[in-house]
Amino acid sequence: MNASVRPAAGPDQEKALHAGRRVISTCANPRCATGWIRLWRSRRVPAFEGRWACSAGCMEQVVAAAVRRELEGRDAGAHLHRVPLGLLLVEQGRISPEQLRQALAEQRDAARRQDGAALPLGQWLVRSGVLSETALTRALGAQWSAPVFALGDSRPEELASALPAFFSETLGALPVRLAGDSMLYVAWPGRIDRTLAYALEGICGLRVSSGIARDSELRVAQTRYLAAKAPRTRLLEAASASVLARALARLIETEKPAEARLRRIHRWWWLRLWRRLPAPSGLPLPGEVEDVLCTEGHEFRRPD
Ligand SMILES: [Zn+2]
Repeated sequence: MNASVRPAAGPDQEKALHAGRRVISTCANPRCATGWIRLWRSRRVPAFEGRWACSAGCMEQVVAAAVRRELEGRDAGAHLHRVPLGLLLVEQGRISPEQLRQALAEQRDAARRQDGAALPLGQWLVRSGVLSETALTRALGAQWSAPVFALGDSRPEELASALPAFFSETLGALPVRLAGDSMLYVAWPGRIDRTLAYALEGICGLRVSSGIARDSELRVAQTRYLAAKAPRTRLLEAASASVLARALARLIETEKPAEARLRRIHRWWWLRLWRRLPAPSGLPLPGEVEDVLCTEGHEFRRPD
């Protein structure tokens, strides 16, 4: 087949998708061997990342290419250097060098006694009464070059279709506000996971603005988020990346979604399936999408 007749997935094709029609139904698999005659058959679903594949075999190759793309992508922001929080607090004059030394020693002792071993330094300082929660939140904002979000009037329960509960619980992200149908504000406790923020943008088709929130406010808001009606989620464990690609392609063939998108977040994978074509902006209703959370080469569990 002449490569020049195969349109690349671009803004025009996106527009055509949203208008409910397709450009020319060319298979998304660059190694597709199907002739033109078969392409005229009406196989409009399943779709994967805005594109169509003519057969189950081609869909498998398209999904495998996406898995390779995600594996080759580096974790976003992993290379960024940040000033250690303790040092920052001393520099800002919020604690003295002596208070820092003492807190670190107490933290070490607690770890040895195995109680409160996982408590981060900032929370340790707040619990010891050395630092206020407001001062800690401001310092974390400075450390991450991010704004501080006040969650008083946020309605996270209305955004439950943005991010699967697993990622909120595991990495701390909490969608708190949708502005203008295109900007999603996401609050984080003390550590912004840029890889998850980037994946969220890719899956939801929204811009994500990250900020730090007070731990106590975040916990209350997160309880509401986790209790809200969310999209159906299923878990899938695969022995390797190639097994994962085959399993996801099979799933897509079975479910026949109008759209599907895949992103990798550290050691997890997130596949979202749309029953109808996604709207160009805003969030879907919980019943309109389904999430598949996957791992390859290890069991499905949270990090220690
Ligand atoms: Zn094909």
